[in-house]
Amino acid sequence: MADMRREIPPVNTILEHPAIAPYEHLVGRETLRRTIAGALDRVRTQKVAISAELLVAEIAETVERDAAARLLPVVNGTGVLLHTNLGRAPLAEHALAVAHEIGAGYSDLEYDLIGGRRGSRYAHAAAILCELTGADDALVVNNNAAAVMLALDTFARDREVVVARGQAIEIGGGFRLPDVLARSGATLVDVGSANKTYPRDYERALTTRTGLLLRAHPSNYSLEGFVRETTGAEIAEIAGRAGVPFLEDLGSGALHDLRDYGLPHERTVQEALRDGADLVAFSGDKLLGGPQAGILVGKAALIARLRANPLLRALRTDKTTLALLAGTLRLHRTRESRERIPFYAMLATTLDELRARAAAYARSIDGALVEASLAYVGGGSLPQATVPSIAIAFRTPYADALAERLRRGRPPIVPRVSDGSVLLDLRTIAPAQDAHVIAALHAIDA
Ligand SMILES: *Cc1c(COP(=O)(O)O)cnc(C)c1O
Repeated sequence: MADMRREIPPVNTILEHPAIAPYEHLVGRETLRRTIAGALDRVRTQKVAISAELLVAEIAETVERDAAARLLPVVNGTGVLLHTNLGRAPLAEHALAVAHEIGAGYSDLEYDLIGGRRGSRYAHAAAILCELTGADDALVVNNNAAAVMLALDTFARDREVVVARGQAIEIGGGFRLPDVLARSGATLVDVGSANKTYPRDYERALTTRTGLLLRAHPSNYSLEGFVRETTGAEIAEIAGRAGVPFLEDLGSGALHDLRDYGLPHERTVQEALRDGADLVAFSGDKLLGGPQAGILVGKAALIARLRANPLLRALRTDKTTLALLAGTLRLHRTRESRERIPFYAMLATTLDELRARAAAYARSIDGALVEASLAYVGGGSLPQATVPSIAIAFRTPYADALAERLRRGRPPIVPRVSDGSVLLDLRTIAPAQDAHVIAALHAIDA
C-alpha cells in the first residue's frame, strides 16, 4: 500500500477513481471536489500514515454521510457510560423489541379497548412507574427539562419558587435553572448562602405568593467541605405545614441502590418520595437506562393538575418513546433482568471479563497496551463517580491525529485522549463491537 504522505494525488485523479466517481450523481461534482480537497488537506497536515485505499474509503464515507444526513452509530471508547453527546443510555434489546412491535403497527396508544372509546396516552407507563417507585400517580413527558418546566408552569406561574442558592445552577446543554424559572413566569427566591442552607431559610422565604418549593440535584456540579444542605425531609415538612407543593428534581432518577455496583450512594426516587416530596422529576435516559423522557411521579392530585395543563400537549411523548420506556421499566423489576439494560450490564461487567477482551486486542494489534482505567458514569449525575476499568492504550506523539483518524473511521470510534495516549476504555465498548474495532485499528496501522 502506498504511503500517501509522500505522494498526494491530484483532486481530479480521485474524482475519476471508480469508487468515487459514482457519487457525482448523488451530490454533484462541486461538493465531491470539495470533499476530496478537504480530505487531501488533512493528509497533508497530519502525520499519521494512511493508505490510498483507506483515503478513498474515507472520502466515500464522508460523501455518503453528507448525502444521507443521518445519525451514525459510533463506538464509545471514552469510558463515559452515559455520554450526553453520544446519545446517553444505549437501549435494551427487550425495549427495542417492544418499540418495534408498537411502532410497526397500530396500538392502543389513546384508545380504551374495553370501552371502545378514546383513552389516555398517559395511562400506559403510569402503572409500572407507580409499582416501581411507590408513587400514587405518574406522568411522562419529552425530557426532564420539560418535566420541570411543566411543573413550574402549573404551580408557579406568576408566583414564587423557593430554591437553595447552591442549587440555582446551570447543568449544561443550556438548562440553567434561573432562566427556566424566568421563562415559566415564576419568580426565583433563592435562599441560604452558596454553600449552606438551613430549614429556617426556607421558612423565612415563604409568602402568600409562594407557589412551589424546589430542591434540585446539582448534577455535574458538587459542593464539598463546609456544606449544609436542607434535606428533602426538612423541606417536605415545611411545605406540608405551609400547604405548598414540594418538587424534588432528582435529574438522574436512580431506582436502585447504586452501592450494589460499587458506586457511591445516589438518592433514589423512592427515597425522595419516602422523605415526603410531593412530586419527583427525573430523566428516562440517565440512570434509568431508557429513552429520552422526563418522568414526574407523586401525589395523584398534583399529577392531575399537571395533566390538565394545556402545555402538556406540546411536551408529550410519542408512541415509540412510551414503548421503549415501558420495555425498559419492566426490566427494572429484578436485578437479573435489570442487567439486560446495557447501562447496568456495563456496570456489572467484571474486570476479569474486560482483561480477557483486552488481551485479545493486545494479541492482534502491534503497539496496543493494556492499562488500568477509570470509567465514568456521566450523564449529569454522580459527577465524581468512577468505575475501575481496563483500556487499550496507544502511546504516540500524534495522539490527536490518531484520535481524529479513529473518529473518521467506519464505524467511527470515539477514544479518550490523555497525556499523549489514545485510550479505548473497554467498559463502554460492547463485546459485539470488538471485532469491528480490531479491524479498524488494523486498517489504520496504529
Ligand atoms: C439532566 C438533568 C435535567 C435535564 O434532564 P433532561 O432529561 O436532559 O432534559 C434537569 N435537572 C437535573 C437535576 C438533571 O440532572
